Amino acid sequence: QLSKRLEKVAEFLPSQAKFADIGSDHAYLPCYVCLRDPYAQAIAGEVNRGPYDSALQEVKAQELQDRIEVRLGDGLEVLKRDEVDQIVIAGMGGPLIRDILDRGKDKLTAVKRIIVQPNIGAKSLRKWFFEHGFSLVEETILEENNHIYEVLAAEPGDPHAGYHQEDLEKEMWLGPRLLEQRTAVFKEYCKVERVKKEKVLYQLKQAKEPQLEKVNNLTQEINWLKEVLDS
Ligand code: SAM
Repeated sequence: QLSKRLEKVAEFLPSQAKFADIGSDHAYLPCYVCLRDPYAQAIAGEVNRGPYDSALQEVKAQELQDRIEVRLGDGLEVLKRDEVDQIVIAGMGGPLIRDILDRGKDKLTAVKRIIVQPNIGAKSLRKWFFEHGFSLVEETILEENNHIYEVLAAEPGDPHAGYHQEDLEKEMWLGPRLLEQRTAVFKEYCKVERVKKEKVLYQLKQAKEPQLEKVNNLTQEINWLKEVLDS
């Protein structure tokens, strides 16, 4: 049984996908996709020997060796140029995923879709997409085992699409499409964020000389969260 989180990631792949799953661990995602779609093909990349061995084992157990290739290596280094159409990087922090994309930029020239599932710090990925000519085409948010996860998909295209110039900073942080959808899970996420931000603000204000810029930024963010929660 695949996690709800990875199921959502899989939903963001087209049928007959030819994709790489970077940081694949047990290769559960490529196995799941290839078992359901006889035309899907994948490369599972892993930088660590333990997870690499687990991936090999799983692919063999599912008899998918002809359609899933497991490769040992750092980030996008395991890929040749033009080898895959989609790239998935899931289950890591946003800044780590961003660094993997940034270090492997030259492998992305022919990629049609990038799907990321950051455990934290989705903002760093939206910003990276925005600055590197990718349009944020899909976003979703889900809850599983008391964790809230975001899944984003980007494609080469107009980076401004979906954003409003006057709300850029807010949308880059909270997600333009998540703000539009305003699901119950998104509101829950905003509620939790608000509690965290209020605590930090309180502590900042206790300081002998509160840092004005930080206080202002936090106040702004809390107001954005209130906006969502009051709507
Ligand atoms: N993608 C799976 C998921 O979402 O369930 C596994 C997530 S697991 C927490 C992160 C995996 O990424 C680990 O197996 C780790 O070895 C691998 N990893 C971390 N940095 C990496 C890199 N630079 N290149 C390839 N794999 C990496």
